[in-house]
Parts: sequence; structure tokens; C-alpha cells
Amino acid sequence: MKIETDVPLSRFTTVGIGGPARAFAQPRALSELEDVMRWGAERELAVVPVGLGSNLLVDDAGVDVLVLKLSGELSQARVEGEILIAGGGAPNAVCLHRARAAGLGGFEFACAIPGTAGGGVRMNAGAYGSDWAAILVRALVVGREGTGWLTRDELDLSYRHSTLRPGDVVAQVEFRLAPRPEAEIRQHVGELQAQRKATQPTNKRTFGSVFKNPRHELGAGRMLEECGLKGYRIGDAQISPRHANFIENAGRARATDALGLMAEARRRALARFGVELEREVELVGSLELPPAGETA
Ligand SMILES: Cc1cc2nc3c(=O)[nH]c(=O)nc-3n(C[C@H](O)[C@H](O)[C@H](O)COP(=O)(O)OP(=O)(O)OC[C@H]3O[C@@H](n4cnc5c(N)ncnc54)[C@H](O)[C@@H]3O)c2cc1C
Repeated sequence: MKIETDVPLSRFTTVGIGGPARAFAQPRALSELEDVMRWGAERELAVVPVGLGSNLLVDDAGVDVLVLKLSGELSQARVEGEILIAGGGAPNAVCLHRARAAGLGGFEFACAIPGTAGGGVRMNAGAYGSDWAAILVRALVVGREGTGWLTRDELDLSYRHSTLRPGDVVAQVEFRLAPRPEAEIRQHVGELQAQRKATQPTNKRTFGSVFKNPRHELGAGRMLEECGLKGYRIGDAQISPRHANFIENAGRARATDALGLMAEARRRALARFGVELEREVELVGSLELPPAGETA
């Protein structure tokens, strides 16, 4: 398998931001994934798996790690009985397509989550009242100590949380679905997607929700809207005029611009609501958010 150097990660993130990865590989099968993990371990390189990069903000300066993008059979999905078996790199759209074609429902909620089966495990991705925890049976995880299955309970999935350790790679996921007529699935998905389009900047380059929703009567988006942040801009990064919990790349935004917006948002939310917003987006590289009261 080819291991490339200095591959710009901006190509692999939905927000289109990110410097080069020191090493980059696209394993196409479990054995290749295990081989490349060993190659990284020998060189003491940290491993960062990347799905569709839909929840990532990557350092402009690049990252001194081994980035893995699962491809080939690790990015495909198939159905056996009522189980959807997805490679860790299988896009949610592909999983949904396979489930619908087999007349299986339960994955519809993921239609508006532009990630992969494996990325969804790490984040316990969810929407519209459902999440990975509701349907996941087990996941095959490749880590430094070897390869093994983890059940849903072992993964301890909760709101945007799992027990996966940094560098663990989900190679395969099994989801339990339930029979549902294809036409019903199609209609439900259409409704959910229309709802999304009406409220979120789905046609812009973003990394999804910036902050988790706090324990508060207002969600993070509404809170930041009340702080007057819609449309607020640093460089080419701007708080979405449509939904204040999204940051758009409006040109050639840098990670530091986005980070500056996040710091300002946290500062204002703390001052106005006494709430310390917690980030949802994953930072890759040496990026760090300053404490909630401070600007970047
Ligand atoms: C427009 C938009 C809307 C969104 N809406 C939602 C939503 O409604 N609900 C929601 O939960 N999220 C949402 N997101 C965020 C994002 O799509 C999810 O978090 C998604 O699950 C990330 O999947 P990914 O494969 O793109 O992971 P990435 O963004 O590539 O990575 C995210 C994290 O997962 C890790 N990871 C990726 N692949 C693997 C793997 N195979 N094994 C182990 N770890 C892995 C990465 O290292 C990183 O830590 C949205 C994003 C966008 C851009």
C-alpha cells in the first residue's frame, strides 16, 4: 500500500481547511489497515483516522501524524438479514442506500449527517431523536494493541461520546435495523432533508455543529444568535447567517480564523448566559481553544 507524504488535508475535510499530513494512507482491507498501523507504531507516529472530515478542524501548519482514510472494502456496506454491515469508511449515504434497498429502516436519521459509519461511532453521531447507540450492535476496532470487537455497551456511547481511544480505528460496524417499506423510508428521508435545508447552511463548507448543546433552555445556536454573532467574521471564516452554531469557510479561511470565532463565541456565551460552551468539532494538530472567557 502506498504511503504518501505531505498530503493537504483541506481536500479531506468538508470545511476545506487543513495543512499537510506527514504520512497518509488509504488501506483497502483489514490486513492493509493492520499493516499500516504497525508501520506507524514502529515510527511512533500517532494515528488519526479521517472519515469524510465532516467534524474536523485541522491545523493550517499541518500535522505530524499518520492520517488514515479507509477505502476499498473498508468503505463499502452490505446487508445480511436485518444487519447492516458497514466498513468503517462507508459514507452514511451509502449505508442508507443499502438499508433502503433491502427494505430496512432505522438508519433514516443519518441522512443529514455527512459522515461515515466509523466516524459516527467515535462521535455517537445522532439527529432527530436517534443516534448510533440506538442501532449499533458492535464495532471492529483496530488499535495499537490489536484488533477486536467492541459491543455498544463497551463503547459506552452517549451524547457525542464513545470510549474509543485516540488512534483507534473502526474498521467495521454492525447495525441492527428493522423491516420498513422502501417507499416509507424514501418519504421520511425526504422530509428530514427538507427540514435540514430550511434551518442549516447545508450548501456551505462547514464542519457541522461547532459546540455541543449545553444543559440550558437554549441550544448553542440560539444562544450565539442572541449574542449577535450571526454573520460575524474573522478573515474568511464566518458564523453562519443561517444557523449560529455553524462556521462557514467563505473563501480561503484558515483554522486560526475559525478558532478565533470559536473563542469569541465562548467568551460571549459565558458573559451573557454564564455558560461554558463545549466544542463538538474535533481539533487536529496543535490547535487549542483558549479558556472560555478569553479570545484567541
Ligand atoms: C452540514 C453538516 C451537518 C451535520 N449534522 C450532524 C448531525 O446532525 N449530527 C451529528 O452527530 N453530526 C453532524 N455533523 C458532524 C459530522 O457529520 C458527524 O460528527 C460525523 O459522524 C463525522 O463523521 P466523519 O466520518 O466525517 O468523521 P470525521 O469528521 O472525519 O472525524 C471525526 C472524528 O471521528 C474520528 N474517525 C473518523 N473515522 C473513524 C474511524 N473509521 N474509526 C475511528 N475514528 C474515526 C476522527 O479521527 C475524528 O476524531 C454534521 C456535519 C456537517 C458538515
